[in-house]
Amino acid sequence: MFADISEAIKEIKSKDYKNILIQVPEGLKTEVSRIASKLEKECCVDVFIAAEPCYGACDLPLKEAEISGCDIIIHFGHYDFGVKTKIPVVYVPVEIKSELTEKLKKDIEKIEEKKIGIYSSEPFKRLLESFGDYLEDNGKEVVDKKIILGCSKFEPLGELNIFIGSGKFHPLALKGKTYFLNLEKNRFEDLSGEIMKEEMKKAARVSKFEGAKKVGILVSTKPGQFYKECKQLEDKLREQGKKTKILIFDMITNEKLMGLDFDAYVNTACPRILDNPFDKPIVNLRDLP
Ligand code: SF4
Repeated sequence: MFADISEAIKEIKSKDYKNILIQVPEGLKTEVSRIASKLEKECCVDVFIAAEPCYGACDLPLKEAEISGCDIIIHFGHYDFGVKTKIPVVYVPVEIKSELTEKLKKDIEKIEEKKIGIYSSEPFKRLLESFGDYLEDNGKEVVDKKIILGCSKFEPLGELNIFIGSGKFHPLALKGKTYFLNLEKNRFEDLSGEIMKEEMKKAARVSKFEGAKKVGILVSTKPGQFYKECKQLEDKLREQGKKTKILIFDMITNEKLMGLDFDAYVNTACPRILDNPFDKPIVNLRDLP
């Protein structure tokens, strides 16, 4: 994983910041002390490192910045999620250099669909561009091309989705017929069955939730995940005859719910929390009818 910090250096120098908080994704952790030393040396600043796990730009370390007296956050690996902050935040993209192997090209040749939607995650942004050109040169029509998040929700425009990148976290957010161009494992995998299974699990969770009487509303304090309308949601669920309470967390985990006497939960934070096992029925707010 590669990060170009020249823009961040320019920004720090231009405003005369003194204390910097840097936050990196898991894949850049081995580089973080080197990045911190470079910023200290080139910008004459003190650098703090946000060490809690970070899953996206929805998860900015605002409390840590305030407590440590930092004047700016440098966030690596994700683009601006739209979180409003008092403290300035600079977003530094990261790149994973990769290319299509001959084996993958042969697998792609077997695709019969013509209209294709192509998707990827931020570190593969450049490759997504060249992959689109490659498909067009080989007789396909690229009808959609986007960087997506694990929580992205949209209707696919093509007859087939292809996600190019590594890890299933992002492609499982897609809907419909989907292939995963897995660059890490050099495989072209059909994920349509797994996506359909996820849809069935979702329907089963919603049905259990609808039968629950006592419901916990899960709210996260993470800046980009906090659900401001939680009180209105509570009113709505009470009108439906449910007994409810609002529960506030930073990270929502099964362990933290143990011992609580609710029949089921509605999650208003990151929908991918449900990729982890939970003992009680739990449904994402966005999946409720
Ligand atoms: S809400 Fe979840 S899936 Fe969406 S950006 Fe944040 S961590 Fe990623």
